[in-house]
Amino acid sequence: MTKKYDAIVIGAGHNGLISAIQLAEKGWKVLVLEKSSKPGGASKSGEVTEPGYVHDLYAMNIGLFLGSQFYQEHEEEMQRFGFEPVVNDKPYASVFPDDTGIGAYQNRKEMFKSLAYHSTDDTYAWKDLSHYYDQTTPHFMPLMQMELPSYKAWKHVLKSMKQLKLNGLMELGSHLLQSPREFVDHWFESDKVKAMVAPWGLHLDFGPDVSNGAVFPFLESILNQRNGMAFSKGGIQKMIDSMVKMLEIRLGEIRTETSVERVLVEGGQAYGVVLENGEEMIADKAVIGNVTPTQMVNRLLDVNEVPDHYLQEAESYRYGPATMIIHLSLDEPLQWKAGEKYSEFAYVHIGPYVEDLARTYTQAMNGELPDSPLLIVGQPDVMDDTRSPKGKSTLWIQVRALPSNVKKDALGEIEADDWSNIKEAYADRVIEKLSAYTHNSKRAIRKRTVLSPADLEGDNPNLVGGDSVSGSHHIFQNYVFRPVPGYSRYNTPIDRLYMVGAATWPGGGLNGTSGWLLADKL
Ligand SMILES: Cc1cc2nc3c(=O)[nH]c(=O)nc-3n(C[C@H](O)[C@H](O)[C@H](O)COP(=O)(O)OP(=O)(O)OC[C@H]3O[C@@H](n4cnc5c(N)ncnc54)[C@H](O)[C@@H]3O)c2cc1C
Repeated sequence: MTKKYDAIVIGAGHNGLISAIQLAEKGWKVLVLEKSSKPGGASKSGEVTEPGYVHDLYAMNIGLFLGSQFYQEHEEEMQRFGFEPVVNDKPYASVFPDDTGIGAYQNRKEMFKSLAYHSTDDTYAWKDLSHYYDQTTPHFMPLMQMELPSYKAWKHVLKSMKQLKLNGLMELGSHLLQSPREFVDHWFESDKVKAMVAPWGLHLDFGPDVSNGAVFPFLESILNQRNGMAFSKGGIQKMIDSMVKMLEIRLGEIRTETSVERVLVEGGQAYGVVLENGEEMIADKAVIGNVTPTQMVNRLLDVNEVPDHYLQEAESYRYGPATMIIHLSLDEPLQWKAGEKYSEFAYVHIGPYVEDLARTYTQAMNGELPDSPLLIVGQPDVMDDTRSPKGKSTLWIQVRALPSNVKKDALGEIEADDWSNIKEAYADRVIEKLSAYTHNSKRAIRKRTVLSPADLEGDNPNLVGGDSVSGSHHIFQNYVFRPVPGYSRYNTPIDRLYMVGAATWPGGGLNGTSGWLLADKL
């Protein structure tokens, strides 16, 4: 017999789960269908190097999630079901070829000492930037948790216009449209201070010269410095598992290893899904895709059911550069040449400088393997002693930015080929770069597991071409334009068919916003 639900959610990413939990709380009969063997999408963990070493396979920094409306509402329950955030007061740092570094500290005195070592003027600049953050973020940060466009958002903008007056508004607009390089050049004089802030742009697809790319480095550098860096104790899977328990206790169901092949549509209205094995399931009120627009139109819908304008826009949805992740089990923590204290930071960025980030971004966009990519080196064991056996350690290296399809190697050493054939050779380049900044990395490595851009997409179809945030965040495809102009409110041209997730506003990261906002309005 065909099974009937009120809502079927395609994909158990954190946004899909949030929608499912909130709808189940309203009394809806909800089913989540997940292709993978584990829920979580780009927030999963596992012992991928060797037993006893827990690695966050993809996302690790849960700062955005802790600030989400969902978590604010359900903090106590999530913790009861096993989720425990752990915070490091030394959130991020950058290291340099002359064996120096600069770190951001939650403690204000330490922070100013760290800046003053490189530039007294930049100590004042950081104070000014922090002050500017307090003055301006109330005007635009709340919009990141609102549907765009919406009456609520317009009301907020109008209120800000009144408070800021025309000049203030123009100044804020101009600052937010800066590129990361324009932003750091505007505020700081020291190249090392600039190199501590600008890499945050490349956590999304904001190379140093991309307009509007200043927003993310501005927010992340100040937020992480003030709040510290938060990870999930025992691995990010604990966060997801606790959400699954919240769903089940509300009588929602989840099926893993179940791939959805098609959305059933009749008379312009979605009414269910077909699984890969041909099984049909009915949804009376909503089908919610935690998917990308390209999967929606190229796989899940019949093109004849999709209006031309939507089809064209969705098909030309643009993905950003790729990411590779290298997981290491270590015999001992890293010893940084810049000093012992750098092994205490949650993230260490190795660009090293803004110019290097610019070259890397251009090479990746041109289809070249960068000669010296940005390394985001995550050291979770600093704040979580459950990740590895006593005295040992794990390492999470996110390599940004890479081409999805390799045309050539900027160094001319690796033959262009499929990622499956070149990922280990490229990982060797990454380890060489890391070892130039550390005393012991080669000696300390026990096992390594390399996840190439192709591996990322193989595990999660939302990570198209290895794009870690499911689509470019450049201004033409962000805000009211995400994922498709005219459809930024989680709707599609098909009645009762909705979209949530990183490909929808407010984009990538563990913000949980789209899942929350959609469930709220259904
Ligand atoms: C390497 C990496 C590092 C990152 N680091 C961070 C970080 O530190 N902090 C941060 O905030 N963000 C980080 N991100 C980004 C963040 O993880 C993602 O933006 C976020 O997880 C997206 O969530 P989502 O709800 O859109 O769903 P996703 O996580 O994309 O999950 C979607 C799920 O839907 C399933 N699915 C898709 N199609 C189907 C189908 N047809 N049938 C059944 N199931 C389907 C997929 O298998 C997947 O499980 C990182 C991402 C990556 C890849």
